[in-house]
Amino acid sequence: MKFISIKGESPAVSFREALFNGQAPDGSLYVPELLPKLPAEFVSGLHEKPYHEIAFEMLSLFLDEIPAPDLKKIIGQSFTFPIPLVHLEENLYLLELFHGPTLAFKDVGARFMANALSYFLQEEECEITILVATSGDTGSAVAHGFYNVPNISVYVLYPSGKISRLQEQQMTTLGGNIHAIEVEGTFDDCQRLVKQSLADTELVKAKNLTTANSINLGRLLPQSTYYAWAVAQLKKQFHQTEMPVVVVPSGNFGNLTAAVYAKQMGIPIQRFCAAMNDNDVVGSYLLSGEYSPRNSIQTYSNAMDVGNPSNFARLQVVYDFQFQKMFGDIIPFSISDERTLCEIQTTYERTGKILDPHTAVGVHSARAMRSEQSIHAPMIIASTAHPAKFLEVVKRAIGIDVPLPDELSDSLKKTKTSIRSSATFEDWKRLLIPH
Ligand SMILES: *Cc1c(COP(=O)(O)O)cnc(C)c1O
Repeated sequence: MKFISIKGESPAVSFREALFNGQAPDGSLYVPELLPKLPAEFVSGLHEKPYHEIAFEMLSLFLDEIPAPDLKKIIGQSFTFPIPLVHLEENLYLLELFHGPTLAFKDVGARFMANALSYFLQEEECEITILVATSGDTGSAVAHGFYNVPNISVYVLYPSGKISRLQEQQMTTLGGNIHAIEVEGTFDDCQRLVKQSLADTELVKAKNLTTANSINLGRLLPQSTYYAWAVAQLKKQFHQTEMPVVVVPSGNFGNLTAAVYAKQMGIPIQRFCAAMNDNDVVGSYLLSGEYSPRNSIQTYSNAMDVGNPSNFARLQVVYDFQFQKMFGDIIPFSISDERTLCEIQTTYERTGKILDPHTAVGVHSARAMRSEQSIHAPMIIASTAHPAKFLEVVKRAIGIDVPLPDELSDSLKKTKTSIRSSATFEDWKRLLIPH
C-alpha cells in the first residue's frame, strides 16, 4: 500500500516514509491511496475475535510492508490496556478509550506510532530524536508512548507555569529517554522552537530530528481498530444486531476520520455524529458547504478547542470533496459549555456515571440526535478521557472530587525533573548540542 499527499505535488510513499515524514513535502497530509475492504467472512465473524486479531487484520491491509510476525509484535506492544464498551442507558454505549497510561484516547495512537518507529529504527540500526511541543495533553501521551522505546529519545517542550500540575508531573517524572523542557514562554514559543529546530540542518543532522504530531498516519490508522472492536462487542456482549451510530467528540477530527475509515473498510456502522463544542467550523461546513477556519475559543472540553482541524482535509478526500455526501454520513452537533455541565449532571443523576467534559459533549449530542432525528439505533459514544483529568469542571457540575486513579496519584508523588530553557532559539539549540 502506498500513501499519497492530498495536494498531489509530492510523490507517493511507503508507510515507513509517511511515518518518518509526518507531513508530505508539499505541505499537505498523507492519505492511503485507497481504503482497502475487509473480507466479508472476517466482518461477519468479528464478534468472535480477540482485539489483537481484529487490529492485525485491519492494519495489515495498510502496512503490508511489515512482515506479519513483526506487525503482530508491534500490535502486542501497543494495545496493552483494555478498551471496554459499557452500557450507559437504553441504547447508549460508551467506548472507554481512556484506560491507557495518561488516561486519554491519544495513548492508543501514540503507543502504536512509537513502536512502529522503533521497529524501523532497529532494522536500520539508527537512533532518532523526537521533538514535541505541548500545551498539556499531547505531550504526556507522546512521552508515555515513547517511554523506554529503544533507539528513540524524546524532548517535550512545554510552557513553564502554563499547564496543570497533573499534566506537568506526567511528563517530568518519567526520566530515561524522556526529557522535559520547561520553556520560559508560551505554547506558541514551544511550537516555534520545534519548527525552527526542524528547519536547522545542523541540528537535524546532529540529532536525527523528527516530530510526533497528531497528523501522523502512525497515530491515525491504529485508531480505526477500536471502532471495529466496539461494533463487535455490541453484538457479543449486548446482542445488538442493528447497525450502530458512532458518536465522536471531535477537535482535530483524527478520531472521527479513523471511525470513517473503519466504515469504508466494511465495518457495519450506520452513520456518524460529529460532537463539537463551540468550535464548530466543520459543523458550519456540513450545514452550508462553506469552510471558514476561525481562531479557537476556549471551552471546558479544551482538547477540542481547534479552529482549523487538520484532519478535515482527510475527511474531504473520503467524501470526494462534496459536502452533501459528507453530510449524508456525518451529522454535526455543537454543544455549549453550559449544556456540557448539565450533561455531566444529568448523566450522573440518572446513571451514577461521571463523564469528563469531552465525553459529555458526545453524550449530549447523542441524546440530541436521538430526539431530533428520531434515531433508535444503538449509539456508540467514544469516551475520550477519564473524568479525573478534568477535576475542576466535574466539580463545578456535580460538586464531587473525582478520586485520582493510581496512574495519576503515583505521578504526583514523584520528583519532577525538567530542564529550563529560555524561549530563544540560540539557548535551546545550545542545550541540545552544547559547543
Ligand atoms: C484530542 C482529544 C479529543 C479530540 O480528538 P480529535 O482526534 O482531535 O478530534 C477529544 N477528547 C479528548 C479528551 C482529547 O484529548
